[in-house]
Amino acid sequence: MKVLVIGSGAREHALCRALSLDPDVSALYCAPGNAGIAEIAELHPVDALDGAAVAELAVSLEAGLVVVGPEAPLVAGVADAVRARGIPVFGPSAQAARLEGSKAFAKDVMAAAGVPTARAYVCTDEAEIDAALDAFGPPYVVKDDGLAAGKGVVVTSDLQAAREHALACGRVVVEEYLDGPEVSLFAVTDGETVVPLQPAQDFKRAHDGDEGPNTGGMGAYSPLPWADPKLVDEVLATVLQPTVDELRRRGTPFSGLLYAGLAITSRGVRVIEFNARFGDPETQVVLARLKTPLAGVLLAAATGRLDSLPPLRWSDGAAVTVVIASHNYPGTPRTGDPITGLDQVAEQDAPKAYVLHAGTKRDAASGDVVSAGGRVLSVTATGSDLAKARERAYRAVARIGLDGSHHRSDIAAKAAREAGPEATSA
Ligand code: AMP
Repeated sequence: MKVLVIGSGAREHALCRALSLDPDVSALYCAPGNAGIAEIAELHPVDALDGAAVAELAVSLEAGLVVVGPEAPLVAGVADAVRARGIPVFGPSAQAARLEGSKAFAKDVMAAAGVPTARAYVCTDEAEIDAALDAFGPPYVVKDDGLAAGKGVVVTSDLQAAREHALACGRVVVEEYLDGPEVSLFAVTDGETVVPLQPAQDFKRAHDGDEGPNTGGMGAYSPLPWADPKLVDEVLATVLQPTVDELRRRGTPFSGLLYAGLAITSRGVRVIEFNARFGDPETQVVLARLKTPLAGVLLAAATGRLDSLPPLRWSDGAAVTVVIASHNYPGTPRTGDPITGLDQVAEQDAPKAYVLHAGTKRDAASGDVVSAGGRVLSVTATGSDLAKARERAYRAVARIGLDGSHHRSDIAAKAAREAGPEATSA
C-alpha cells in the first residue's frame, strides 16, 4: 500500500515512523513534511490546507491511503476533497471536524449525547461574558470558540485577565473549572465502531512544575500507572461511543481519530475538549507502544471495516517524549538556529530513543538541519517502565544542541516516582 501523510510536525513524523515500520506499506510520502520526515518518506511541497492540491497529489502518487495529521486541513475540508476522488482517507469531514473546530458545536453534541463535560455558556457580548464569569466564579475558564492551536484557552483566578481574554475573542465559551488530573484518550473510528488506543498524559505549560504559559504541549508519557484500569472502558461507554453515535445520527459521521481530552475530577470523568486528530505530543508515546502495524488500522477506519479488526496489541513497557522548543516559544519563536547532536542520538541511543522532528528544515546553503518553528524536536524513548524510558529520553535530550532552546525537565517525573519501587515500599 502507498500512503500519503499530510502535515509537518513531530506527530506526522511519529505517524510516518510507524508507517515506515509496517511491512504492508510499500511507499511512504509526506506533504509538506520536515527535515526528519525526509529521511523516511518522499516529501512533496504541497500546501496542506489546499484540498484540491492534496487530492491531486494523492491521485498522481496512486496513494491507497491518505492520513491527515493536523486539525486545520481537516476543518478546511482536505479529507473531503481526497474522499471525493475515491481515495481512502483517515480523517473526518469538515462537518465532523467541527467537533474540534468549534467549542460551541462540541458542547451541543455532548449535551445531545449525554456526555459528561463542564457546564458552559456560549457568549457573544460583554453582558453575557460578565454574567457567565459571575455565575461560575474563580478559577475562570475562558475559551476562544475557534481553532487556536491549544493557545486560545485562559484559565485564571484573575477576573480582569479572564474578562480581557473573553472580550478579545469575539465568540467565546466560558465554563466551569474542572479539577483533577488530565488524560488524553485517542480512539480510531470509522463512524460506527470505536477502537480506543492507550491513554497518555501531556504537559501543556511551558515550564517545570506546570508554570508559565500554555503551549501546544511540551512532553507526554504513556501508560498512566496512576489511572484506574477501567478508565478506557468507562470512557468508551460514556464518552466516545455516544459521541460517534450522535454525529452519525446527525448525518455527519465522524471517521478518523477522535481525541478526548479528559479531566478525572472528584465527581468523575469529564470531557475538557475533543480534537479531531491525533494529539501532539501524545501520539509520539502512544504509537511508540503500539505493536499492531499502523497502516491496516488506519485503512480499516478509512474504509468502514473496523468491526473486523483484530484487537490491537500493545507493549507492556512505557514511552516518554520530551519537546525541545525554540527560544521564546510559545511567543514568536526564533528560527534558523543550527541543531547539533542528531547523529549522536541515532548512533548511541537508537532504537530505544529517537528524535522526531517538528519545526526543522535543511538550510539550503549549508545543508545543516536548522530550527524552523516553535516546537522543534520531540525526543522519544521507550523502556520497560516509565523511569527507564524517562532516563533514556533525557540522555538523548542532553546530546542535542540548539541555541536558546528550552525543554521541561519534569516530564513523567511524578508518574515514574509513583510507579517506582520506592513508591510501593514506602
Ligand atoms: P483546551 O484547548 O480546551 O484543551 O484547553 C487547554 C487546557 O486548558 C486544557 O488542557 C486544560 O489544562 C485547561 N482547561 C481547559 N478547560 C478547562 C476547565 N474547564 N477546567 C480546568 N482546566 C481547563
